[in-house]
Amino acid sequence: MRLGTMIATLWLVLSLAGGASSSPWLGRRVVVYDYTSPEWRLLIKTAVNQFNAVLPKSAPRFAYQSMRHKSCRDVRPRRGISVCMDADENFDDPFMTAGTSWELGSRGYSRSLVRIRTSAEPDSRVACHEMAHAILGIGEGWTLVDGRMVFPYPDQSCVWGELTSPGSFDVEYARRKYSRR
Ligand SMILES: [Zn+2]
Repeated sequence: MRLGTMIATLWLVLSLAGGASSSPWLGRRVVVYDYTSPEWRLLIKTAVNQFNAVLPKSAPRFAYQSMRHKSCRDVRPRRGISVCMDADENFDDPFMTAGTSWELGSRGYSRSLVRIRTSAEPDSRVACHEMAHAILGIGEGWTLVDGRMVFPYPDQSCVWGELTSPGSFDVEYARRKYSRR
């Protein structure tokens, strides 16, 4: 769930870019390629569908596509969102369960990679959290307090809160992100 410096930097670039096309993803359809293990698949698919259900009409549809199981090492991300399992040693933070990065193209996002730690227990909260990062282009909202992650909207969000499905904060964020197009 933690993001590295690279992602924070991208986020800054996006914030500065601002302006007319602040929507993370443009176009009518963005494919979500799911390379994860069988245990994670239903959770990822469910999260994608839950976001589709609450996104404004002006947002793209996120089309879930099940792929042959591959680890992130073997995935070459294409346009859209790729979700895969990554080896534990590729997470520099021992507490990190998953991470999402974006790549900014000339028109909005071009690719996003969601990496889930191979040893992480299947968890719908993690699935929703990472898909929120990938679909909404939202950064982290939590802060560390006494070594514990504290979320600003615990019962209104699965990314800036602790829900297992999108909440009112996520719906409002999606509306703001995708309404001016
Ligand atoms: Zn996160």
